[in-house]
Amino acid sequence: MTRSISIFGATGSIGASTLDLLARQPQHWRVEALTANCQAAELARLALAHKARIAVVADERCLPELREALSGSGIEAGGGAAALVEAASRGADLTVAAIVGCAGLAPTMAAIRAGGTVALANKEALVSAGEVMITAVRRHGATLLPVDSEHNAIFQCLAGNDIADVRWITLTASGGPLREWPLERLQSATVAEAVAHPNWSMGAKISVDSATMFNKGLEFIEAHHLFPVGHERLRIVVHPQSVIHSMVEYRDGSTLAQLGPADMRVPIASALAWPARMDTPCAPLDLPAIGQLTFQAPDEVRFPATKLAREAVAAGGAAPAVLNAANEVAVAAFLAGQIRFTQITQIVAQVLETCDLPPPASLDDVLVVDAEARHRAADMLEPA
Ligand code: NAD
Ligand code: MG
Repeated sequence: MTRSISIFGATGSIGASTLDLLARQPQHWRVEALTANCQAAELARLALAHKARIAVVADERCLPELREALSGSGIEAGGGAAALVEAASRGADLTVAAIVGCAGLAPTMAAIRAGGTVALANKEALVSAGEVMITAVRRHGATLLPVDSEHNAIFQCLAGNDIADVRWITLTASGGPLREWPLERLQSATVAEAVAHPNWSMGAKISVDSATMFNKGLEFIEAHHLFPVGHERLRIVVHPQSVIHSMVEYRDGSTLAQLGPADMRVPIASALAWPARMDTPCAPLDLPAIGQLTFQAPDEVRFPATKLAREAVAAGGAAPAVLNAANEVAVAAFLAGQIRFTQITQIVAQVLETCDLPPPASLDDVLVVDAEARHRAADMLEPA
């Protein structure tokens, strides 16, 4: 059986892992749309290699180069925000949402409104839109399959069980590359040090998020929306080996965990084949070689991001979208060498404190909150 698939954010780390899996069973897949922010040459190469029907660059300025690279191939080329949404609205049997940041929200919502199945890696979209996205999923009969490794693990551990029987959901966190650094040293962490993740190879933004622990904060909010057990039943434990990807404890005292190599092709394969299973080229788990699995409580003094995320969930309304937007701006500023590592968290906390916006009730409302919070965060980057 052949299924159609679109990948939003095809040139990124999740995009590459997904395309790697598709290339191993091309007979099963017909590629509809592939997208990128710009990277026209790379996107054209992928579109040709995977015989996509349409390739779209979000940045319209890159469209001429994409057109040129695809001319004579029969592959359609598109550019700009509206083209991205149009490509998502066409629908596919499976849409992989792998754009980084709230920039992925509009196409993800379009795929949901088309009533399709969305494999969601783009956590910022769900964090920002929250109930707006979950309501749209219900209304349009869409299906969300979590690709984020923790949420995919929880999804697997919940299968066949009643969510009412859940006592705890525990998200595991590697702790990131700066896990053992004292507070004073964190101030001077460089970009190279912050993106050097010990276990996972990922895009720059999520790598910085792992170092600040905002990644886990965003994932806490993501879990709150995907698995409605109440945020007081969600916990975070630091597990530096990244072997257990998350766990669900039931009221009878049974804890189910999902284990696997730190390779995103495992959770992506789980979403691609769901509800069945497929082969991956990932090495089997070698527990004797790993030796030890260790756990510790998160240190929210050195890494306050998870505390800010919990507070944003408790506050509800616009707070999670504000947190996400401020973090995106602060991470970009850190990557550009404009601010120190520890300022990321400070800026997010300050924007959350000062940004009291009405609860978003629609996609447009979410985008307004996102824009306003970005604006406030950008103001804080200006030298006083
Ligand atoms: P990446 O930076 O490697 O790739 C991002 C993709 O999004 C690229 O194709 C890029 O062209 C596109 N993009 C960037 N800005 C855009 C914009 N403004 N408009 C449209 N497209 C844009 O990122 P990644 O590591 O693949 O992560 C993608 C998403 O998946 C993120 O939300 C991340 O948190 C999540 N995620 C990633 C991993 C991982 O291992 N990489 C794991 C779990 C979750
Ligand atoms: Mg994750």
